[in-house]
Amino acid sequence: MIDTLLIECPVHVQGIRQKRLFKGTSNRYDVMKIQVLGCFGGDLKSRFPAFLIDEKVLLDAGTIGGALSLENQLKIQSILISHHHIDHLIGLPFFVETIYNKNHSPIRLFGLSEVLRCLRTHLLNDVLWPDFTRLPNSEHPTVACCPVEDGKYYEAAPGIRFIPIMTCHTGPACGYLIAKKHSALVYTGDTGPCDTFWESLARITEENPNIQIKGLLIECSFPNHLESFAIKTGHLTPALLENELAKFNHKNVQIMVFHMKPQYIGEIEMEIRKISDYSIELMKPDQEYFFD
Ligand SMILES: [Zn+2]
Ligand SMILES: [Zn+2]
Repeated sequence: MIDTLLIECPVHVQGIRQKRLFKGTSNRYDVMKIQVLGCFGGDLKSRFPAFLIDEKVLLDAGTIGGALSLENQLKIQSILISHHHIDHLIGLPFFVETIYNKNHSPIRLFGLSEVLRCLRTHLLNDVLWPDFTRLPNSEHPTVACCPVEDGKYYEAAPGIRFIPIMTCHTGPACGYLIAKKHSALVYTGDTGPCDTFWESLARITEENPNIQIKGLLIECSFPNHLESFAIKTGHLTPALLENELAKFNHKNVQIMVFHMKPQYIGEIEMEIRKISDYSIELMKPDQEYFFD
């Protein structure tokens, strides 16, 4: 029954079947800009995860209005949701209300069908918050839900393509490979140790030899002494992160860590500094990265 709630995405979004998708030559328009709107997995005067690509594609929606002006919020075209935990969604209801009635095309909300269903059942449900997937009306809604499937190719905005890759969290969850021309970024969302994620990523990069992974956004939530809790809740510690990085066989990639629980940030930082062989940075709100 609830499946009927998933309206068809009213914009041009299709799975693209051909391999070798990421063709292209380098020029200045290839630069991919990442703005950290939020990067923490908890609330201690801190911002929840959200990463803005080229001012128009948002990876998760933990922070929007708390970091962006109205003018910049109106530039967002698509949001890629990794999973339905509230720290990745909490900015969404206020954002859609902010852009409502501003002549904005429907925001395309991409996510696994179970995740979008949960969002509509429990958040944009006319109880906790108005159902902006039907406002002002179902034909021209403020938010268009666009279900995605593991391993398929989609377009988030002109020139920005992505592939969902399933991760290992406590419920349905995926990360994303996002590409602009030949440059790509890998985003894990929330995950515990996950061989299948790295295997899928290896397969995708093998099928697309032109692709160059420039950045990896990977979670690390807890310090090492909470390893069993981290594994139970589908998260990583610095020691588990190091194990995962050994499965990621790409060189010269900037590794950016997010989702630190803020009450453990000092411990996590110290333990991450001890990991050698990799260039690892803990993300901070309002940082910007450029990849070309
Ligand atoms: Zn989270
Ligand atoms: Zn989560």
